[in-house]
Amino acid sequence: MKSNLAGKVRTDKERNSALDYPLMAPKANGTAIQITEGILWIRMPMPMALDHINLYLLEDDDGWFIIDTGLHTNKTKELWLVVAENHCQIKPIKGLICTHFHYDHSSLAQWLMDTFNIPLFMTYGEFYTLATHSRALDTLGNSHQRQFYQHAGVPLDTVEKIFEACKKDPFMEHRPSKFNRLRHDDVLTIGKRRWRIVIGEGHSPEHACLYCEEDKLLLAGDQLLPHISSNILVSEIEPMGQPLKNWLRSLKQIQSLDANTLVMPAHGPIFTQMHVRAQQLIDHHFDTLSTLQDFARHHSQFNAYEAMQHLFNRKLSPIDTLMALGETLAHLNWLAANDDLQCQRQVNEGVDMYCSTQSLKLDRKKA
Ligand SMILES: [Zn+2]
Repeated sequence: MKSNLAGKVRTDKERNSALDYPLMAPKANGTAIQITEGILWIRMPMPMALDHINLYLLEDDDGWFIIDTGLHTNKTKELWLVVAENHCQIKPIKGLICTHFHYDHSSLAQWLMDTFNIPLFMTYGEFYTLATHSRALDTLGNSHQRQFYQHAGVPLDTVEKIFEACKKDPFMEHRPSKFNRLRHDDVLTIGKRRWRIVIGEGHSPEHACLYCEEDKLLLAGDQLLPHISSNILVSEIEPMGQPLKNWLRSLKQIQSLDANTLVMPAHGPIFTQMHVRAQQLIDHHFDTLSTLQDFARHHSQFNAYEAMQHLFNRKLSPIDTLMALGETLAHLNWLAANDDLQCQRQVNEGVDMYCSTQSLKLDRKKA
């Protein structure tokens, strides 16, 4: 999932002028573009603001590996059959690699495994997070989730609307039955290329990128997107989590790879200048952190819901609210861990209240 918030979703036509885009994207109709020898680029449609996902095929000696699945829709299934018919007749599809658990990347895994009789490759963290999320309806609205929203100061009627919207979400995660585990630094030899698994964190727990150092190629999944900032969310599963810290560290890791790498992302056009893009994303999060610090200087105390309304100052749908709150908490947790904010739970209401440690220090000095 990617953020639809604060106007972050842009179309391919709105270019990020700091990057270079060497190829036109394929249409989301089963046609493929050859990026370089042994790599095909296809797109699948998505009926939402982010209207497509990029999927890739890697040619091995005796078949094709596919990267990510697309949404669990009849249209995507139909297009996979077209892709197999048009491009995988001489060599069959032989394996599926899922970068991470989000439903646009993994929810057709079992269908692809069954249809083409292929194994799934995924990291441990992503496979088991997918298993948990595929049961999300069983736990929706339980006391633990209600507490999470209570601590954040979300009004009760808004919480109910979030649960209602989640119940109606047609794109739930679907759990595949088995997998082959990918680990950081594993090397997959596919055709004549060696792809090293580079794990990123923050957007999801153990996101796999595939990096070919010799040919300077990176299959980036959602770890580095050219036009939008991937969601960095805190949820009720790990309320004290530090996804932003992990995300910033993962972006630094990307900046340690060869600067001249061609990035094949899951959304938007393929691009170069990946160090520049990683830095833009780092800067974006530090801008958000300083907006929150500024907010804290002007408010003696506030809760996460109030901070969210300040960061995302417009009418939000219930799902947008869920995302915006998670993103706000990711930044608040970072500030609290870095001693820039202090957080204290109110005894009666059970709401976490934040205040600036700088003003606390000033108060102490005055005293
Ligand atoms: Zn994602």
